[in-house]
Amino acid sequence: MLEKRIRRSHRWYAFFCICFLFTLSWTAFFQVNAAEEEVKESEEIEEQEEISKKEPDRVVILSKKSKGKKFTFTWSAVEEAEGYHIYRRRKDEKKWMLLGTTKKTKYSDTTMKNGRRYFYKVAAFNEAGEGEKSKFVSVVRVKKIQCGGNKLTLELGEKKQLTIKLVPQNPTNKKLFFSSSDKNIVTVSQKGKLRAKNPGTAVILIHSVTGAEKKLKVTVKKKARIVAIDAGHQLHGDSSLEPMAPGSSQMKAKVASGTCGTATGVPEYQLNLTVSLKLETELKKRGYEVVMIRRTNEVNISNSERAKIANSSGAEIFVRVHANGGAPSARGILTMSPTSSNPYIGSKFAECNALSTALVNHMCARTGAINKGVIYTDSMSGINWCTIPVSIVEMGFMTNEAEDRLMQTDSYQNQLVMGMADGIDEYFLSH
Ligand SMILES: [Zn+2]
Repeated sequence: MLEKRIRRSHRWYAFFCICFLFTLSWTAFFQVNAAEEEVKESEEIEEQEEISKKEPDRVVILSKKSKGKKFTFTWSAVEEAEGYHIYRRRKDEKKWMLLGTTKKTKYSDTTMKNGRRYFYKVAAFNEAGEGEKSKFVSVVRVKKIQCGGNKLTLELGEKKQLTIKLVPQNPTNKKLFFSSSDKNIVTVSQKGKLRAKNPGTAVILIHSVTGAEKKLKVTVKKKARIVAIDAGHQLHGDSSLEPMAPGSSQMKAKVASGTCGTATGVPEYQLNLTVSLKLETELKKRGYEVVMIRRTNEVNISNSERAKIANSSGAEIFVRVHANGGAPSARGILTMSPTSSNPYIGSKFAECNALSTALVNHMCARTGAINKGVIYTDSMSGINWCTIPVSIVEMGFMTNEAEDRLMQTDSYQNQLVMGMADGIDEYFLSH
């Protein structure tokens, strides 16, 4: 019986033990489950954090500016960016090179060479990596400024717009600055317009906003006055006729044969040419431009043709060089001008008269010859066909033996020439 009891108690004990173990294992099971769930939850949180740490968006370039040695560009800030990588590529390169890193939204590059084109891209980055690179922005700086040479000559008072060519043709910043080393001689506007103020030389400096430079030497010269000279007559006169004036029914010989030296036998056309060529030399020495109607005796040019050549030559005045003929006792110098009522060139009477007066006075002053003054006539074809101020100079009388001989001397010819040139100078002082 006792044994039975003991066995029974054993069974109870075993039962309790089993129950206890069962309870323990359930608790353990639930605890493990709970822990696993915790792990799962934390994994989910980590996954969510990884999703928020993706690469930043693409950068958008906002502006660019090229000034001095700097090329600066800006872009819009990108959310979640820790900084920005700046990439650069030269036109002749294939790879984008990492140029720098910044936390700002602005970058300045100062390492470009003039005349080369550079491209830039920006990419935002963070822990997760680098975002897509921006569209490119490019810069090319002026290498050379060209304006058709290094030297330029302007006439006094002349205005000139400089034609500027930049190399390369389309730099990022085309802005140029202009300055003159001497504003009394030549001024320059910021658009490159020159104005010649006084004779002399000055240097125009042209520089680009990014540093390229060009120097242009400008010389301002007095505007050359142009004088037409006609050595009267020619080897053979031409007695065929031409109208004495435009539209006139009055006819005159095309070219008279002229007079001749009583003592020397030298024909007038020869003396006229000798003195005219000397006058040309003297006027050129004084800075004039000279138009010669003839340089040899073997020509056939009518008086109206001579006037037309002078009219269209660009000359401002026309001086017709002659020598006189008359009574053996007649001597001295005179000049001829149209009258104020001349229907063809009367409107230029004041100029013709001023020129004629200046010529005769200065020639007499230089030579000491008798001053026979100005004679007014409207019957000269060579005057009537003129449209520019004109004067006929009668240097002396070839029919006067003494004056004829005198006019064949080199020294007297030189005095006549100096007098004519002085007269022309005086005329241009006020015209
Ligand atoms: Zn003559």
